[in-house]
Amino acid sequence: IRILGIETSCDDTGAAVIDDQRNILGESIRNQLQYHQKFGGIVPNIAKQHHYENLVPVVAEAMNNIEWDSISAIATSIRPGLIISLWQGVNFTRQLLFKYNKPFIPIHHMEAHALTVRLTHDVDFPYMVLLASGGHCILAIVEDVDKYYRLGESNDISPGETLDKVAREMNLSEHPSVKDLVGGAAIEYLALQGDSSIFNLITSQYSAKSKDCSFTFGGMLSAAKRLITKHQIKYDSSMLNDQILKDLCACIQTSVVRHIETRIHRAILYCDYRENLTWRKTLVLSGGVASNLFLRKRLKDLCDYYSMKLVCPPPKYCTDNGVMIAWNGVERFRRNLGVISAVDEIIPEARSPLGENISEHVR
Ligand code: ATP
Ligand code: FE
Repeated sequence: IRILGIETSCDDTGAAVIDDQRNILGESIRNQLQYHQKFGGIVPNIAKQHHYENLVPVVAEAMNNIEWDSISAIATSIRPGLIISLWQGVNFTRQLLFKYNKPFIPIHHMEAHALTVRLTHDVDFPYMVLLASGGHCILAIVEDVDKYYRLGESNDISPGETLDKVAREMNLSEHPSVKDLVGGAAIEYLALQGDSSIFNLITSQYSAKSKDCSFTFGGMLSAAKRLITKHQIKYDSSMLNDQILKDLCACIQTSVVRHIETRIHRAILYCDYRENLTWRKTLVLSGGVASNLFLRKRLKDLCDYYSMKLVCPPPKYCTDNGVMIAWNGVERFRRNLGVISAVDEIIPEARSPLGENISEHVR
């Protein structure tokens, strides 16, 4: 089995070819973040244009030295994501399917994030997964390739968005020691020299007492913004001492991480307690925020306490990429799950929940 995977759900154009022995035979990725940054968010038309220009070279690179005849099927993200971006991948795939006469495997982008770990590590179903990124915060049990139980999600914004917005408010993109890093990574770096006890960002709205596994980051973002305004915690080149900036980085990072930790802790207790929900005591961490070492450390300690394994795919496969889509294609193709012969009925979807919501029971 050899699957070509194509990813265009947001601002990355990715493609890869993977076989069922977990060999990555080819991969390529182009990111367009720099073209969007000055607008403070992803601009749909710019994304469309870049995907359009990038798809041909990215797929060609991934297919380098690979015969089209040897490809078993093409897998492409069709949901959730930016509709205009998804359409670029779907339309391009349609041309390839027609030209090379291959079956199609429509991919749920979050399912792909949740399964990547099975490419890079030996992890069996079922396991718990936290997907924490710029667009999502989902805590779920992965029961099987196509079976998910959602324990909790964010009620407002994602942890990545929280960190990105705080970084932007603090003007960190001008800070010489972190100017090339994305928001969350910039905060992680500066937080190393910060004191997280200086400010308290915990608001009553997301008290650890709330009895479920859902997340909320809006309150701590507002609290951080108020502090930034009140104490003028904004980087500028005339700044003589940036200690307060580092302290706030440490505070926001700690608040985000502690909140995630309390929710996962609750989920672990719930899964141990609930009878007909078996799981193998493995926690998988993925999404861009999963590269945060402070988060990994805290969750490692939590997992150790409960004799659980913590597994994280390498950072480059935690963020959007073609490899995870191709791998999801392999997982589905070898079990004949959702493999179709025509792409005509495929309509990308902006929103699409992963699996079944069981958060009602986590109380
Ligand atoms: P999605 O995949 O949910 O559609 P996305 O593509 O924006 O969203 P990713 O590329 O997976 O998400 O992750 C990007 C996010 O990860 C950004 O918000 C970024 O700030 C955050 N991030 C990256 N590195 C770190 C880090 N070291 N610590 C914390 N956050 C980080
Ligand atoms: Fe993603």
